Amino acid sequence: MALIVQKYGGTSVGTVERIKNVAKRVERFRDQGDDVIVVVSAMSGETNRLIGLAHEANENPPARELDVLVTTGEQVTIALLSMVLQADGYDARSYTGGQVKILTDSAHGKARIQDIDDHNIRHDLSKGRVVIVAGFQGVDENNNITTLGRGGSDTTAVALAAALKADECQIYTDVDGVYTTDPRVVDKATRLEKITFEEMLEMASLGSKVLQIRSVEFAGKYNVPLRVLSSFAEGPGTLITVEEEATMEQPVISGIAFNRDEAKLTVRGVPDIPGAAYKILGPVGDANIEVDMIVQNVGEDNSTDFTFTVHRNEFNKAQELLSEVAEKVGAKEVTGDDSIAKISIVGVGMRSHAGVASQMFRTLADESINIQMISTSEIKISVVVEEKYLELAVRALHKAFDLDNSEN
Ligand code: ASP
Ligand code: MG
Repeated sequence: MALIVQKYGGTSVGTVERIKNVAKRVERFRDQGDDVIVVVSAMSGETNRLIGLAHEANENPPARELDVLVTTGEQVTIALLSMVLQADGYDARSYTGGQVKILTDSAHGKARIQDIDDHNIRHDLSKGRVVIVAGFQGVDENNNITTLGRGGSDTTAVALAAALKADECQIYTDVDGVYTTDPRVVDKATRLEKITFEEMLEMASLGSKVLQIRSVEFAGKYNVPLRVLSSFAEGPGTLITVEEEATMEQPVISGIAFNRDEAKLTVRGVPDIPGAAYKILGPVGDANIEVDMIVQNVGEDNSTDFTFTVHRNEFNKAQELLSEVAEKVGAKEVTGDDSIAKISIVGVGMRSHAGVASQMFRTLADESINIQMISTSEIKISVVVEEKYLELAVRALHKAFDLDNSEN
């Protein structure tokens, strides 16, 4: 017997038929004697539809009213799920975020949870009821409805699991777990049994969009065991948890993440004097352009080349800005390239293994892939390569680091 929080995303509750399937799963856990709290998203497409209506009503929908509107999506699914469970003879009760009293700050559209009142939930659980909570929403101290940002139901689930000290937080989605890399690129990609919070954050920030990043941060902070599973198939999914004592079997690399959304900018011939980096990156930051990798190298003539990456959407804006900046700092020229891709190998096993970087570079060299930029952290090595080599590089690395599934 355990206390389990289950979260079902939009596709899992996309129709009443699918809500009935969700109910069946919840019922199985109840039959086993587990206490279950269910968090649901809006039916797939519903949140976007509501945002569309808002923009028809007002070009610039007021944030407070937008939150009032979009939270109705989840209010529909909690009620329907509760009705289905009750039709099946299971006691259940649905709650909006405000009814639970999921207290947040007042930042509409990106509110942060401050406190959860567990009183109603505990009372219902003690009466043998399934508790169903609307994801993605809360209320501020003045009872204004707030939302937690797109994909925020994951965070609701994790926060509830943390507040109620649940044994596990299960996120049901349309994939059956977290994979060593994107199976659409490498058909030998394998589902991971386990991954650490840290690794998951690296994988997620690079586009493995299985979970909202904030929910993983939250789970790591409160040490909530998080499991990603499919709501359409049976299976253990992937458990996201804390790093354990290193074992012999610990793979060096857990996964390979990649990202095609970046572009590279280089300012050449920057005078090598204090303040140059600040003069270049200051205005970029002031323009709210997020910078990812940064490389600076001193050349022979006492000037430096300064290269960094930005999101591809901001490439043009950054390039324009840099032309002005380059003139001011006396740099020679600005060049750019928006057909790059970033590939990262991720693994806590790197901490205890030497030579991981050289193995990565050798693998790419064997495929004659040129590395344009490199950056490293304790559990990640990233390289930038020409975009056309992305798939080849990911496949080669997947094989080189023994991630290929031999059964495929
Ligand atoms: N319905 C919200 C969204 O589409 C929240 C969620 O699905 O987690 O972003
Ligand atoms: Mg979602």
